[in-house]
Amino acid sequence: MQDAENNRQVSRRTSSNLVIACVVASLFVIALGSQSSLFCKTSHPNISYRIQVDATDLSGFDVEMQIRGASNSVRIAMASHSEYDDRYWRYVENLTAESRGVTLQVTREENAVWRVVAPGGELNVKYRIKLPPQSTPTRAAWRPFLSKTGGLIGDVHSLMYLVDATSTPARITLDLPSGWAIASGLEHTKDPQTLAASSVELLLDSPIVVGHFRQWDFTVNGVKHQVVYLPEPDAVAFDTASFVAGVQKLVTEAFNIFGKPHYRNYMFLYQDGAYGALEHLNSVTIGARSQNLAQELAGVLDTTAHEYFHTWNLMHVRPVERVGLRYRSADPTGELWWSEGVTIYFSDLLLRRAKLPIFNSTRVTYLEHNIAAYLGSPSYSTLSAERVSRGAHDPFALGDDYASTHLQGNVLGTMLDLIIREATGGQRSLDDVMRRLSDRFTPQRGITGRDIETAVHEVCGCDVRSFFDTYVRGARSIDFDQYLRMIGMHAQVSWSPALGSNGKPEPDLRIFVFSTPEDSTLRVRLINRASVWGRAGLHTGDRLVSVDGQPVATTTDFRSWLGKLRIGESARLVIARDGPTGARSDVTVVVTGYDRPTVTIGEVADATVEQRRLRAQWLSALP
Ligand SMILES: [Zn+2]
Repeated sequence: MQDAENNRQVSRRTSSNLVIACVVASLFVIALGSQSSLFCKTSHPNISYRIQVDATDLSGFDVEMQIRGASNSVRIAMASHSEYDDRYWRYVENLTAESRGVTLQVTREENAVWRVVAPGGELNVKYRIKLPPQSTPTRAAWRPFLSKTGGLIGDVHSLMYLVDATSTPARITLDLPSGWAIASGLEHTKDPQTLAASSVELLLDSPIVVGHFRQWDFTVNGVKHQVVYLPEPDAVAFDTASFVAGVQKLVTEAFNIFGKPHYRNYMFLYQDGAYGALEHLNSVTIGARSQNLAQELAGVLDTTAHEYFHTWNLMHVRPVERVGLRYRSADPTGELWWSEGVTIYFSDLLLRRAKLPIFNSTRVTYLEHNIAAYLGSPSYSTLSAERVSRGAHDPFALGDDYASTHLQGNVLGTMLDLIIREATGGQRSLDDVMRRLSDRFTPQRGITGRDIETAVHEVCGCDVRSFFDTYVRGARSIDFDQYLRMIGMHAQVSWSPALGSNGKPEPDLRIFVFSTPEDSTLRVRLINRASVWGRAGLHTGDRLVSVDGQPVATTTDFRSWLGKLRIGESARLVIARDGPTGARSDVTVVVTGYDRPTVTIGEVADATVEQRRLRAQWLSALP
């Protein structure tokens, strides 16, 4: 049984990060060989926050950070997020610090780091987060916002932290417009406006929904869960009972895998009018339009299953590169194939086990779809899972290759599950690996690729080194039949022209353009190096100057130009390459159709009784 109080675990296991000042009182005495005296003073700074939202000015919000018991010179920082680093240090305004009425000097050391000299270690830091204009047509569900009826505040987008004191407990008090309620994964206190976290790190991992929202509660195995929905003014009605019951079923299935969770209570924070989602230790923020909840509940529950499973796989069990708070970008990790791809594998299982609506009716059709997507790209046979993982957040990292760590991890997880089932006669599955990792690791003790391999090896009692050497650390196209044979099945692959929804051959449009936060220049990205675009000599990273003689201003402009191209037409692109000459090139691309693989998984004629038994068990989606 795990310690349910995840909050306390976080605090306890990071004590080494606390400011520890050990004073050797008498080196002279030690030198003489007499009884030595070693006095260690452990400093636990007391940190509390206040956020004030003014209904008459929703362009941002004021933040106050009160620090007591720190050292005389402190560094405060805005943390980066390892997945979506929105760099909210850019929106910090009017940063000041004072101590007992005396203004302190604040020096910026880096973009996201400030030093404050505060004699006595007592200081109040004040600043305003000026909310940036929305950069996308729809709001991202993880970024703060304010409207007349509510908003999202808190976490790394709002709160600075005291560098080297991330494990100290912290509180936050909210001054909100009259009538606004508060929802987050944080602990309640006697003061309804004040929330508590066992560590600053947990506080910065806890977004807070405020305003006029709807709320439903349910309990699974004695653990309280809440579902919050922050509607837009024009929200349509939807079947709230089915929605909340679906979420509860997903929780029940996750508990069936892991037993008691690491959190004490959990908050599902849904927002109307937003897209995307972001996982946390005690909560999740999910964009869910009321129209989707009314008409496409399956899609919302699919996203929920994925993000909720991340509570274990990515948040509690996380790659070593994702441990701790940092103010610079996180190092790339080679383990996203597991943290993301195997999470997708399990979110599909949660939906099936919960008997919720699902896009692919059977596990066979789901796997056929995934294998076809895998075989449709040449990159999976030349890039290891670890390499694709490390390149997941850098559009230049894989050169002209394009690969999804989610897809690659999903099919690798499926094959590992088959290996375990065969080796254990169906007694164990990938569920046992996930549970073992969850029991063994913590947010402060991250995993490596070797840890994953060790856990699989321990569960199956078999040698999986060659599998990890070949497909995880090494690069080779997966021999699917080798593993499907274990359940008496095999895959037939055929290639045929890709057809559009109208049944006619589809033009090869496997290209898009992107820009980076640092550079608004539009750059080419190949989706498949074997596409007509790749074969015509375009490369990922090429700067796009014009198409058919016209300059292109935005990614949307490029998409609308691309979408009009038909088979047989020629496209003229002018691109410029990086480098000393920056030479421009004219590239003419004749658009053709392209072939796509279709995968059919069927039974092998000579399947053994045991293989058929394992197949039936696998098809049932049960552990
Ligand atoms: Zn994910």
